[in-house]
Amino acid sequence: MVCTGCALLCDDIEVGENDCRHACRIGDAHITSTNQIDPMVNQSPVGMDTAIKSAAEILVSAEKPVFVGFGNSVTEAQATGIELAEKVGAEIKTFHTRIFDDILDGRVKTCTLPEVRDYADVIIFLGCDPMNTHPRLLSRYAYYPRGEKRQHGWEEDRIAITIDSRFSHTASICKDVYTIDPHRQIEFMDALMDALLSKVPKTIYDKKRILKLAGTLKKSEFGVIFAGTGASAPPRDAIVRLMDRLNEYSDFHLLSLTPGYNLRSIAEQLRQLHNRPGDDDGGVGGDSSSSGSSSGGMDLHEADCILCLGFDLMNSLPAHGINGKIIVIDPNETLTSKYADVVIPCAAGGIDCVGSAVRMDGEMIELSLTRESGRLSDVAILKRLLEVV
Ligand code: SF4
Repeated sequence: MVCTGCALLCDDIEVGENDCRHACRIGDAHITSTNQIDPMVNQSPVGMDTAIKSAAEILVSAEKPVFVGFGNSVTEAQATGIELAEKVGAEIKTFHTRIFDDILDGRVKTCTLPEVRDYADVIIFLGCDPMNTHPRLLSRYAYYPRGEKRQHGWEEDRIAITIDSRFSHTASICKDVYTIDPHRQIEFMDALMDALLSKVPKTIYDKKRILKLAGTLKKSEFGVIFAGTGASAPPRDAIVRLMDRLNEYSDFHLLSLTPGYNLRSIAEQLRQLHNRPGDDDGGVGGDSSSSGSSSGGMDLHEADCILCLGFDLMNSLPAHGINGKIIVIDPNETLTSKYADVVIPCAAGGIDCVGSAVRMDGEMIELSLTRESGRLSDVAILKRLLEVV
């Protein structure tokens, strides 16, 4: 089966009667989770029909609805969610999709995960800690495996570097670690860009180390930057500029490491929607940082209805910033589901419902059914809402 625990979508998982082979600890917990919820209205258990009817009533009466999440739903559910958003005039807020936009728009060069495994000699983990978010990235692709042109593996063939605001678990296995002040990330990038031009950078950071880093990057044959959520907020344009500068000397590629197994797919779908001839976006679309304010879109505290699709909103935002009614569609109990006005449980993609997803590097992956549960899929729930609103 394919694990939908993160955007690596590992396809070598074997699920037995009592065990789950090859999955990492996140995947194992995701696949074997029994932390399911009942349909609820105002925190009282109800039938599915009542929960869906209540959700529809809230959506119909909302003046400023916002849909959030979409990263943990199959592609088909995302498409139906977009249709529903268009019908009720809701804005869609996905989180951490901006680097995907740069990749999809061709602003930065990218590559596939098998190419990382086969060719990468310098790997930078920028604002991310894959050992705790995408645990098999290093063993399957980025560092430990031997690849077509990297036969000697990590001991000789690869250099791993972490640039982050804290010393993470991933940093502990890297040869070079740069801990940067979160308020001075752009200064670090600018200093590195100066160093790539062989100029001594004007910075509070250690100039000799930055010049040494620039030398390593320039010598790289196939470099890869994995950019995480720590790198998706203010310095995004700095990353694009850094990529341009690196590619004057070397061959560097960018991949986004974000939470949610199918975030690239919703980024692709929203991009297609915005590029649709004659489309003025109708309020759908937009991205936001984890602060909850979007670039040009509505702030979440202005919304009078928030539909959380596979997204634990209150785990990301303080509850006092949320004033609207909350509808949760999720396979599992979350902090948000405990406070939601309406909770609609759904099947989980790749576990008890089929569908497709897009891996972080753009590969389309089919998700098969691992076990029957009788739960409705999020696609079916969204279609029922579409029929009645
Ligand atoms: S690395 Fe991600 S996709 Fe692979 S087993 Fe772990 S959670 Fe699942």
